[in-house]
This record gives sequence, C-alpha cells and structure tokens, in this order.
Amino acid sequence: MPSESAAMPSSIHDAAAVEAMRKRLGLDPHRLRRLRTRLLKLQGSDEEALQELPAAARDAFAAEIRFHELTLDQRFDSQLDGASKLLFRTDDGLLLESVILRVATGRTALCVSSQVGCAANCDFCATGKMGIARSLSAPQILDQVVQANQLLKPEGRKVRNIVFMGMGEPFHNTAAVHETLEKLVSPHGFDQSPRRTLVSTVGLPSAMIAFARKFPKVNLALSLHSAIQSRRTEIIPLAAKFDLKELRAALDQVAAVQQQSIMIEYLMLRGINDGPEDRAALADYLRGLPVHINLIPYNRVDAAPHLEGTSKEDREAFGAALRGEGYTVTIRYSLGADVDAACGQLVRRENRRIAAAAAAQ
Ligand code: SF4
Repeated sequence: MPSESAAMPSSIHDAAAVEAMRKRLGLDPHRLRRLRTRLLKLQGSDEEALQELPAAARDAFAAEIRFHELTLDQRFDSQLDGASKLLFRTDDGLLLESVILRVATGRTALCVSSQVGCAANCDFCATGKMGIARSLSAPQILDQVVQANQLLKPEGRKVRNIVFMGMGEPFHNTAAVHETLEKLVSPHGFDQSPRRTLVSTVGLPSAMIAFARKFPKVNLALSLHSAIQSRRTEIIPLAAKFDLKELRAALDQVAAVQQQSIMIEYLMLRGINDGPEDRAALADYLRGLPVHINLIPYNRVDAAPHLEGTSKEDREAFGAALRGEGYTVTIRYSLGADVDAACGQLVRRENRRIAAAAAAQ
C-alpha cells in the first residue's frame, strides 16, 4: 500500500506508490516513463532523471519517492584486473557487497547480493561464516544495479550480465528474488535480457523447479562442488538436507523446462574434491544433462585457513579429462583477488575494522 504520509518516502521500484504519487501530482504518465527510463535503462544520474519531470513537480516527487535503498559506503578498485567491489550500507547499518567485473572482452558483469549473510554456511565462504542476518528486499537488490550503472556510465560501460552470486542463497529469499527478476527483465523496467541474467543456488530442488517454470529463459547455476554426497555436505552443510538424487531429479526437470544449459559451478579445493574419483563421480552425475561446467579457482579466505585451492595445472588436467568425456568446461580465473572479491570477505573485514574502532574508543 502506498503511504499517504510524507514520513517515509516510497521506492521508485514500488509501482503502486509511484502511480499514486503520479496521480496526486497530476503528472503525465509519459513524463514518468521517461524518468524511469532515464534512471533504470540509460544510467542517468538522479538529477538527470528528475529533469524529465516538470520543474514544479520535482521537489514534491523527490520528497516522496526515493531513488536509492542503499548508501555506497566504500568502493575498492582492483589494481590487478577490472574488478570493483562496492560496499553498500542499508538504512539500518548492515553492510553488503556487489562486485563489478570488467571482463577482457569489454563486457561488464555485476554480481549482486540477495541477502546479508547466508544460512547455507559453505565451508569456503566468508559470507557463510557470518550466518544469516537478513534477506534483502527487491528494491535493495535492484538498487545495486542502478548504482553500479551510474558508476559505470562515465567509463562508457553498462552492466550487461547480472549474476546472483554475491552474498546469500537466492532461494532463501525467493519472493524478493522473483520480484527482482520480473523488474529486471520487464521492458517497462530495466529491460535486461534474461539470457544475460543468472541465478546461482547451492541446490534447493523445489525452488529450482519453480524458478525454471517462472523464468524459463533466465540462466540457472548450481554450486555443486562435489558429486559425492559426504564430500558435498562437508563443503556445503546445507546440502545435507537435499540428497544428490533429489537434486538430479530437479536438474532434469529444470532442463526439460528451460531447454538451455545449466551452469555447474565447481570450486576446486586441493585434496577435497579434485581427485580422480571426484572427477569420475562428477562425470557420472551429470551424464545426459545439458550442462556447462565451470571449474573455479579458490580465493583463500581468513575464515577457512584449512582450505587450499587446486593448482592451475591440476585444474587444467581435471578440465581436460571432463572434456574428454564430452563435457563443455570452462576453467575460470579469479577476478579481484586484491579487493577480496570472493563473496563476503570484504564485509567481514570491514565489520572487524568497525568493531575494532568501536572497541578502541
Ligand atoms: S557460497 Fe553462497 S550459498 Fe554458500 S554460504 Fe556463501 S553466499 Fe551462501
């Protein structure tokens, strides 16, 4: 319900509130469409977007409709490659991260967070070590895209690919993630290509099937990390709830609905999931599915000193063997190693810094 009081401005992503405001101000719908286009599609600044309204309405509109849900707290630009880590703060002081990835091809990707913290508790992940703090709202997820695009505009770049691979398990925040996706791909919203949008999950079978039915063209990635149940559960404690057979049945259904490749994310951890039996189990598990396997190097996190990444040579040999079995495999390299680009690392570091500063006072 749109608020009639001026106490709390409504979000620009709240269509009902914006429409109520438009009627109250007697604005031409066309002017409002132009404002939204300027802000959401053309990377316009807030001031540029407001210029689309008649001068007399701008102050009233800006007082009741807010363009942003998050405050950019800090920005870290990698000196090694094209990654920028954006550290955002919510109104109630929680920190979350998005990462801009400037890929060598000239394309730009944005990795967004769907939660602050995460309940999946993956052994290798700094966010998982934080536990779950809170799910983000759709406007908070969308604002990561708006602000990244505003930052990129002076570089002549635009977010092309959006990946839900930041903090959080998207299917632990399904309603907000679905709302976000609807607004991203809507021609009246961001007009983002669904094919350039990807949601990554640790594998919640029923949520994966529901997602595929609702968004048949949006890509799905599964963080598999092992096709051996006991090892997978060690790496992803949440996986104990979903056995691999159930997950495979869900993958079959997703593939049948989506008719496109499913990304399989496989973080390569030395001595844990990179042996010949791991490769054989992986090849067996995926047989018959349209998949694209991504072998991911591991960025060491402070929270998991016991884990080490597989060497480049061993990653390549693992990938070559899978290719020999007929799979499409990409051996990824890591962007942003010097800006703590692995999800949650920067937030943990900043939280420690804030806590240390508070303790020193
Ligand atoms: S890797 Fe993803 S799912 Fe696992 S704990 Fe981290 S944020 Fe959650």
